Amino acid sequence: MLEQLEQFKTQADKAITSANTLQELRDVEVHFLGRRGKLALLLQQLRDLPQEERPAAGARANELKKDLIAALAHRAESLKGGTPASTSHVLDITWPGERMPYGHIHPLTRFLRLVTSIFSSMGFEIIEGPEVESTKYNFDLLNIPKDHPARDVWDTFFVRSPEGVKSAEGDLVLRTHTSPMQVRAMETRTPPVRFIVPGRVYRHEATDASHEAMFYQCEGLVIDRGIRVTDLLGTLKIFLQTLFEKKVKIRVRPEFYPFVEPGLDIDMSCLLCDGKGCPACKQSGWMEMMGSGMVHPKVLTNMGVDPKVYSGFAFGLGIDRLMMLYFGIDDVRLSYQSDMRFLEQF
Ligand SMILES: [Zn+2]
Repeated sequence: MLEQLEQFKTQADKAITSANTLQELRDVEVHFLGRRGKLALLLQQLRDLPQEERPAAGARANELKKDLIAALAHRAESLKGGTPASTSHVLDITWPGERMPYGHIHPLTRFLRLVTSIFSSMGFEIIEGPEVESTKYNFDLLNIPKDHPARDVWDTFFVRSPEGVKSAEGDLVLRTHTSPMQVRAMETRTPPVRFIVPGRVYRHEATDASHEAMFYQCEGLVIDRGIRVTDLLGTLKIFLQTLFEKKVKIRVRPEFYPFVEPGLDIDMSCLLCDGKGCPACKQSGWMEMMGSGMVHPKVLTNMGVDPKVYSGFAFGLGIDRLMMLYFGIDDVRLSYQSDMRFLEQF
């Protein structure tokens, strides 16, 4: 029996080496390892062996099977790589090298760069700020009082503060918006100013298709003499039209934000149906774009700017949501999952 098994191995090895296509290799596999293949027949004969010979023969048969499977896989690999059998052991320096995969910029970063380049072309300065912020800048100076629900522990990630920081600027939080940079930036600037602050912000959110605990915002601030609501509307309309390369209408709804007065939500005519109504805009013809408003006089004062002389507007873009609209993505979580099947589509 052992002799038969060795014969089987020699035949199988020979057949594998001489298989020159994957189909031929598949036939070899069926012939030797298939349900009615040679090995199966040999295993049937095991039963007829004397009791004492069975274990050794059984063990050898299993070993052969493993070797064969490995040899088949190895041969399949080299056939896929296109290496002809006769030269598989020869170094052929003319053979093309393995192509290294090219990486590319994450769609979110790509979109963020597009947004900043549009504002940059309108004369906006691009600035960044700390992601760990003090409650003084994240809330107090933005006219968000102590009893405001935004300061609730359920909405905000509080961070354990090092000694000393707490007394000066309050507790530390992962910033809940990019607005703290409005005040920080104004500490070293005097009007007129025009800047945007793109960056990551954090909320204590249950994650779903349209909510993430971490996402990107882009804050904008303009302060000068005689800035009016129409300047705000004009700037944002130009931005949206440049971004989507399309004429759009905008609509304004009153909204309360503590750091602006009046506060405005900006809607844009639906990109898909041009305002006629479709499932994407829930038949309303409009899409919610961003919050904005005229900077609250108290916030201007906190910035060291005289509200009797200067006025300004501010706005906050949800970069993730805009990006989803721009690329036609339906789940915000995809941006943060590093799933190559998603990323390779850009
Ligand atoms: Zn629509």
